[in-house]
Amino acid sequence: MKEHGKSSHKKNSKSCNSENLLEYIIKGLSASKKTSHKNETIISSIIKETSKSNMKLNEKCLINTLNIDKQDIDQSIFKEKTSSNSPAILEERKDDEYLKDKLIKLIKESFRTRGHYPQTTLDFYRLVKMIGKGAFGKVFLGVHLLTGKYVAVKSIEKKYIKEESSQKRIFQEVYILKKINHQNVIRLLEVFENKRYLFLVLEYAPKGDLLKYVKKKTRLEEDVAKEIFAQIVSGLRHCHRNLILHRDVKLDNVLLDKNNKVKICDFGVSRFVKKGQTIKEQCGTPAYIAPEIIKDKGYEGCYADIWSLGVLLYAIVTGSVPFKADNIEDLHKVILKGKYIIPNYVSESCKDLIRKMLQLNPYNRISIEAIGSHSWFDKGPEFGRRESMYDGQIRNSIFDGEHRRTHSMDKNCKKNTIAEVEPASVIRILEPILQKVEGFGYSREFVIQSINSNSCNHASVSYYLLYEEFQGEKC
Ligand code: AMP
Repeated sequence: MKEHGKSSHKKNSKSCNSENLLEYIIKGLSASKKTSHKNETIISSIIKETSKSNMKLNEKCLINTLNIDKQDIDQSIFKEKTSSNSPAILEERKDDEYLKDKLIKLIKESFRTRGHYPQTTLDFYRLVKMIGKGAFGKVFLGVHLLTGKYVAVKSIEKKYIKEESSQKRIFQEVYILKKINHQNVIRLLEVFENKRYLFLVLEYAPKGDLLKYVKKKTRLEEDVAKEIFAQIVSGLRHCHRNLILHRDVKLDNVLLDKNNKVKICDFGVSRFVKKGQTIKEQCGTPAYIAPEIIKDKGYEGCYADIWSLGVLLYAIVTGSVPFKADNIEDLHKVILKGKYIIPNYVSESCKDLIRKMLQLNPYNRISIEAIGSHSWFDKGPEFGRRESMYDGQIRNSIFDGEHRRTHSMDKNCKKNTIAEVEPASVIRILEPILQKVEGFGYSREFVIQSINSNSCNHASVSYYLLYEEFQGEKC
């Protein structure tokens, strides 16, 4: 491995030299040494150096020479571009301001002449760049023009969803996301369409998915793993409490926001169930799939989600999955045997939790509620104060100011566990934000009513994006 790495480095250095880039890389590297060795710092130094000298950045060269991820480069270029005061950026901001003024006029006019808000169109957003590809279309980074905040815009080409099953999958995802209100589940802000596309506007999670995050670090230290896993459990537990199964829990479907807060995403194969209902559909990702799904004799979905959660925990603390094979048939055999090895460096309490989730018999598996009180979490630093332990509420009741406590606080337990705390209402009506949204042309009553009735319209999107910023500032 080492030899191979060495020789490829030499080859790439040569090609970089020919484009004068190595010099910039070295400059970037030495600049970064003063601060840290993180990729981000290295790339950002290189980008600064290259742009100062009007050099074209050779991305391929950077990726090969420094073993840097393409997404990291994109992210850094984007950060550098958007933080600079270059004429192009200033021009872009001026354009956005102009478009925002136009939108405000349109909203006011619509209320005045029709007594109703205008339908959302792509004019309400500026699409900046593509950030991902899903089963039915592309995901773009977008700017919400009224607030200037970033969002993720999922575009689904209608011609690809002609089949009833695809339509069902998308409508189910929209319906479920509209229902869920939890800080560890990606938030659906609004849905609109034009002739060709259906657009889902989601809160933006800029730090990518957990798969990439774990890959970068090879595996996560248990303290970090606890921090992240607790949030995943919290989000999934909220879904289960509201009879929603995710059915594709895996590293790729966990995104991280700018504060490294977990956001579970991709509810494309999720569904509602009745308590104790047995289902038969086969879905999920091979390495994460539960044995009872493979057996194909019907299963209770919440136990299958716990199995996948066990695979996920194994994957974050070891950097690998517990069940592997060269083909699906063999993989199924390995899963059905339920035999796997947990490396010695994993703590005993973490091993115990993994084993309790990866029980072949679904009814012997630890419940989602019990995971939160498992001893692995006892020694987590700051664990008791983590925000991630606070659940949201299903969206119907989020603005009613009620406090729920479905699990009582264990008086004997010094630290809180993730099963203990339920939050106050998630979104409050705040005067300064209300005034800002009023400034976009919506009446005060309309904004309050949109929030209270949990509508997915443009006024509530504006309110939510500003509210998130306000919450961030407070932290
Ligand atoms: P999906 O269609 O949900 O599977 O999304 C495809 C890819 O787009 C994901 O793997 C992410 O890289 C990216 N993506 C989707 N939603 C978001 C989001 N809300 N924030 C940031 N990236 C996202």
